[in-house]
Amino acid sequence: MATASFDTARPAPGAAPAIEKIPEFRPEAEPAPAGRPSLVGLTRAGLKERIAAIGVPERESRMRAGQVWHWLYVRGATAFDQMTNVGKGLKAELAAAYTLDRPEIVTEQVSRDGTRKWLLRMPPTGRHDHNRGAEIECVYIPGRGRGTLCVSSQVGCTLTCSFCHTGTQRLVRNLSAAEITAQLVVARDRLGDWAVPGATNGVDESRRAVTNIVFMGMGEPLYNLDNVVDAVGVMADQEGLGLSRRRITVSTSGVVPQMRRLGEEAHAMLAISLHAVRDDLRDTQVPMNRKYPLAELIAACRAYPGLNNARRITFEYVMLKGVNDSDADARELVRLLKGIPAKINLIPFNPWPGSAYACSDWERIERFAEIVYEAGYASPVRTPRGRDILAACGQLKSETEKLRARARMMLEEGLGAEGFYAAADEDDAEG
Ligand code: SAH
Ligand code: SF4
Repeated sequence: MATASFDTARPAPGAAPAIEKIPEFRPEAEPAPAGRPSLVGLTRAGLKERIAAIGVPERESRMRAGQVWHWLYVRGATAFDQMTNVGKGLKAELAAAYTLDRPEIVTEQVSRDGTRKWLLRMPPTGRHDHNRGAEIECVYIPGRGRGTLCVSSQVGCTLTCSFCHTGTQRLVRNLSAAEITAQLVVARDRLGDWAVPGATNGVDESRRAVTNIVFMGMGEPLYNLDNVVDAVGVMADQEGLGLSRRRITVSTSGVVPQMRRLGEEAHAMLAISLHAVRDDLRDTQVPMNRKYPLAELIAACRAYPGLNNARRITFEYVMLKGVNDSDADARELVRLLKGIPAKINLIPFNPWPGSAYACSDWERIERFAEIVYEAGYASPVRTPRGRDILAACGQLKSETEKLRARARMMLEEGLGAEGFYAAADEDDAEG
């Protein structure tokens, strides 16, 4: 069987252990089952195409797409009936051909601290997901004056970072741009975050529940860059969902050849999953390092389009007991990033059943943070968020039953979810 790879770079000839696992199916080869497709999450071009496809003449379809766009992304319409400025006939035709369905909410968990986690089921895509629809997770983290939504870019992940639970999931496919964007639509629905009736355009930014997006859920966003670029475009449209591109952060394990495009085409903020400051160690923790070692990664960071003190790169560093948490590691981290406008997020490791690591002791994290702080970076020690609902990074895995069983088990054992989400929440340059 041919090896399905999401990577765009050359395979390392003769490289023994695989950097990526093989997905169970090639998602692109799977025909989508027939049925009325949803318009939710489409780009402007996609929407216009769908409207033209039901016979609306070219010159009218642009105007109609603009109207429907407003209902979808400013008002959060859930039925064509609500579109008061669209004629009755056209509404009926739209309803006959399309839906405004969102991904199904399988479960919604609300933490005592306001963190919410949704398990979402996408419409079935055929054999790939046994016609049941792939499941992904999406987390909302409220904070002072802002709210951060953590979205997924793939179902599962082809990569196999040694500390990440998502990497153990075999079912992998890219999410479409619409499926990525729909996560924000669901969050706005559940948080009552749409413009009030009567408003002509948007809502007061300061009253938004979701103000920031981080691509830190399941998947490697730079292996699905076209769809991520399109989704960021829809989320950042100022006549629609209206987020600022400076409040959209895309996290990568280090797909060096795609980083420039992310900057040039999405104008998004960049986060790097660094986790180790020596190639020998990073090779084992983040296998992507074997393809693009630290020197190449850091050079690509320095060249990231739009990088300056107001648009810093976030470096994520998961604290693994006895592995990467020494004083020497902290000093090397500071040396490695010298001259790069950077923020450093120290993430307490979130354990999952079967994981080979433990989280560094709190004193160790504080000492590490102190060295980083003395070098001029904001103090990155975080308060855990969403502990009671396991809304933590690296724990995202979407098989509902397993999730429930694990949540029960971990709650019983008193294991909590320490959160990098708190980091994303507190450490935005825009304050
Ligand atoms: N695939 C992308 C984005 C999703 S992962 C990436 O790797 O950057 C989001 C962040 O959570 C990454 O920094 C990832 O390394 C980190 N992470 C994964 N598993 C974790 C765990 N068990 N505990 C803490 N952080 C983890
Ligand atoms: Fe994939 Fe990111 Fe997890 Fe690595 S850390 S396996 S790249 S989701």
